[in-house]
Amino acid sequence: MMNKESSEIDFVIVGQGLAGSLLAYLLLQKGKKVQIYDAPEIPSSSKVAAGIFNPVTGRKLIKTWMADELFPFLEQFYVALEKDLQAKFFHQVLIYRPFPNQQVQEYFKSDNLPENFDDFASLEFENIKYKNLVNSEWGGATTKQSGWVDLKILLDTFRLYFKEKGILIEKKLNPEEALSKSYKTIFCEGFQGKFNPFFNYLPFNPVKGEVLDITIEGINLDEIISQGAFVVPLSKNTFRLGATYTWHELDFKTTPQGEKELLDKYHKLMKPDLKVVSHLAGVRPASKDRRPFVGMHPDLQQIGIFNGLGSKGVSLAPYFANQFVDFLVTGKELSSEVNINRFASLYLGAENS
Ligand SMILES: Cc1cc2nc3c(=O)[nH]c(=O)nc-3n(C[C@H](O)[C@H](O)[C@H](O)COP(=O)(O)OP(=O)(O)OC[C@H]3O[C@@H](n4cnc5c(N)ncnc54)[C@H](O)[C@@H]3O)c2cc1C
Repeated sequence: MMNKESSEIDFVIVGQGLAGSLLAYLLLQKGKKVQIYDAPEIPSSSKVAAGIFNPVTGRKLIKTWMADELFPFLEQFYVALEKDLQAKFFHQVLIYRPFPNQQVQEYFKSDNLPENFDDFASLEFENIKYKNLVNSEWGGATTKQSGWVDLKILLDTFRLYFKEKGILIEKKLNPEEALSKSYKTIFCEGFQGKFNPFFNYLPFNPVKGEVLDITIEGINLDEIISQGAFVVPLSKNTFRLGATYTWHELDFKTTPQGEKELLDKYHKLMKPDLKVVSHLAGVRPASKDRRPFVGMHPDLQQIGIFNGLGSKGVSLAPYFANQFVDFLVTGKELSSEVNINRFASLYLGAENS
């Protein structure tokens, strides 16, 4: 495919993972001329992710950061996107979380539950529904406003959509090629962003993770089960089992230890036997302060970044891609919690060393 002339482009997006796809899509919606680079040889963590979104976290089911803004936004966003792309990838399902021990059960029997607890969870001390499936002698909680996005379908659909528009170039863009251009280049490189010479001063904290795709015969399960590990229903009898967390050996290689850890966790959580179908590994592009990296380079105003989505890309990406596009198109200020100018001192330090 011929490259568009520079004068015809407003934005180049580097990376067609979740971050780059949503950013490119929203810029196109604003009438901007976009070109996307995506390197088939560089692995994408979006293709490994289970795609879960869940507004509560931890044993005590505390609301996650910005849940009241992010979750209503993501719901209307993905529903509208499904309509526009004419594909099905957004699955709103409950997450059943068995209590891991009696102490946690007692906490949920107490009056100290978080405010508005009923809005996002309900309790089931008897565990009748999951009795033959899940090991949960202390009962559990079911969380609402949760579910999963089938990122494979979403990204494959986007790939076709961008190809049909003639704006996807399937090759690597070397960061230096973005210098001195009339258009803006936004890097959405996932884990590779850590090695980008313009943004390697940002405090990345990548986390490797492995998952197994498995089949479980003879069960009927639409919900996600999660405690120590998660089991996500991908299609009839097929599930994604995850995930491991490691901060070293940051590559996309599967390991026998990863598989063993996942199978051990599965057998602790679930009763039926399983068959392993495939094994995947990826690296979550996390940041040290657990907030996304959004904004323009401190010196090079034509170069920006949308990264740092960590293990919550599905819930963070729609809201912050939309915020970034508002900034790029109308100059509306970015939230200080995600704007990379919070790391200006690290940039100056790197410059002076
Ligand atoms: C095991 C595991 C489980 C996960 N589970 C969940 C989950 O349940 N829920 C959730 O919300 N998140 C989950 N995540 C996290 C999720 O994957 C990320 O938050 C999200 O997918 C990051 O998207 P991204 O677009 O930033 O990066 P990526 O998906 O990695 O995309 C980056 C893209 O950029 C391309 N690229 C990089 N550099 C260049 C270059 N120089 N030129 C051209 N192309 C380039 C790559 O080829 C790739 O396609 C999980 C991650 C892992 C590893």
